[in-house]
Amino acid sequence: DTDSDPNALIDGNSLVAMSLARAGVDRMFGVVGIPVTSLANRSVALGIRFIAFHNEQSAGYAASAYGYLTGRPGILLTVSGPGCVHGLAGVSNGTVNAWPMVLISGSCDQKDFGRGDFQELDQIAAVKPFSKFSAKASNIKQIPGCVFDVLHWAASGRPGGCYLDLPTDVLHQTVTESEAEKLIVDAQTCRKENKEEGIEIVKHSEIEKAVSMLRQAERPLIVFGKGAAIARAENELKKLVESTGIPFLPTPMGKGLLPDTHDLAATAARSLAIGRCDVALVVGARLNWLLHFGEPPKWSKDVKFILVDISKEEIELRKPCLGLVGDAKRVLEIINKEIKDDPFCLGKNHTWVEAIAKKAKENVSRMEAQLAKDVVPFNFMTPMRIIRDAILGLGSPAPILVSEGANTMDVGRAVLIQMEPRTRLDAGTWGTMGVGLGYCIAAAVASPDRLVVAVEGDSGFGFSAMECETLVRYQLPVVVIVFNNNGVYGGDRRNPEEITGPYKDDPAPTSFVLGAGYHLLIEAFGGRGYLVGTPDELKSALSEAFSARKPAVINVTIDPYAGAESGRMQHKN
Ligand code: ADP
Repeated sequence: DTDSDPNALIDGNSLVAMSLARAGVDRMFGVVGIPVTSLANRSVALGIRFIAFHNEQSAGYAASAYGYLTGRPGILLTVSGPGCVHGLAGVSNGTVNAWPMVLISGSCDQKDFGRGDFQELDQIAAVKPFSKFSAKASNIKQIPGCVFDVLHWAASGRPGGCYLDLPTDVLHQTVTESEAEKLIVDAQTCRKENKEEGIEIVKHSEIEKAVSMLRQAERPLIVFGKGAAIARAENELKKLVESTGIPFLPTPMGKGLLPDTHDLAATAARSLAIGRCDVALVVGARLNWLLHFGEPPKWSKDVKFILVDISKEEIELRKPCLGLVGDAKRVLEIINKEIKDDPFCLGKNHTWVEAIAKKAKENVSRMEAQLAKDVVPFNFMTPMRIIRDAILGLGSPAPILVSEGANTMDVGRAVLIQMEPRTRLDAGTWGTMGVGLGYCIAAAVASPDRLVVAVEGDSGFGFSAMECETLVRYQLPVVVIVFNNNGVYGGDRRNPEEITGPYKDDPAPTSFVLGAGYHLLIEAFGGRGYLVGTPDELKSALSEAFSARKPAVINVTIDPYAGAESGRMQHKN
């Protein structure tokens, strides 16, 4: 900019925006207010798209999902005190899911801290349990270094949530433009020099051992999760699976790295696959509750695990037979190269491959028989089949599916088909409900060429329903399908004899207003709403909403007594 005066003064808000832009940040999610409104405005002026939400919780969920979908930290901007506290939902979600994101929050004036300043809070302490790394700029000159540091830490090693604290007084301090430029360049250079820190390269002997274990296995299985997705390891996975003929099992969000319809997909034979495999190569997926801790009775007690993970701590925690620390894409590349020198392939007629294929076929035909029926009032299966077919009808690029709820998510995971990588976002490692509209907005912003389709329960939808206005305001191509069964898990399932006391006539803790008009909610903002209760009504609403590619809510009336309390997690309730 030849017009700019090197001696002109810029403030902390501007310097943050300049540093973010220089670091390559191009999107930001948040809620503005004191003291960060001008930070958002300056960022927009520098080419960063700011998506303004109603609630920091949703904006935080959006930032975390944006980090996952793009592999670059999603940014959440919040005001001080309560804004930061609301934002903790997002940072914690990012950290637990191992997704890169940064919470940037204003904080109170440093000199007034401790004597009851406006929105005062020790934010560094508040964020600590939920973040990988925090930085506080206690002087304007520290801003560029802090910005580059938090962005680096969020995406390095196992990704996660990081925090940048910006006191009000620092945002109001000034430096000259030439000084600002120098500070940014220094911070950039310092980051570049430290880039190689901590990257481990797997040993060749470990790769040889992995390949030999796979080669000698009688019932090998390849499991992959959202770590493989964030590593963008889909091509390497495809090559490994197809060259060796080893069946594979994706975790819920690993679905789509290879198409669900692939011949070697063991998804529909999950119990057999994990219960009988003797060697499991697990790529970018933790052996946590989602994978039954890798223990009996779900897994065989003799199974040998080979874990590929970027986090050394993860491998130390699980103590697998073999641990390969490194980036999933890179490690698989080396494994593929090693196999290429001395190839092996199980082939279609291998007993194990055949057993899995047979079991998968049986389970699929049993489910298809259920799905084929048109049940009205709707159960979960009938509308899910109609939605599945409508989504498949769109072809490529496949829409990004957002899914939450108990029964809605469980049934959806089994029925809906993922054909492309990173096209499924759900309640994730933390079982977070309320992610719906935040994830939809992130998906639409991260992948403008894709439609976004949310399939969620009425309870999940309720957490973030006000963000329907955000969908309409930015005209995002998002179709939200609400499975409306009048409450959490559906109708009042209590035994009437057990309901006593002065509030016995109150609605059940699980129930909402009967027949809530969720479709009218989006119409209040100028979006399109549909109320449907039959297959034909649903088909026509989907066809119209999918081709319009405009914000819409389809309110699907579901039999309140269909489905189960707690979905498939009844043992925990
Ligand atoms: P899922 O929920 O799909 O089972 P998890 O979130 O439990 O997956 O596990 C993801 C794992 O992937 C984490 O342990 C994380 O450390 C790891 N990971 C993240 N990025 C990479 C990467 N680039 N390469 C390999 N592993 C990764």
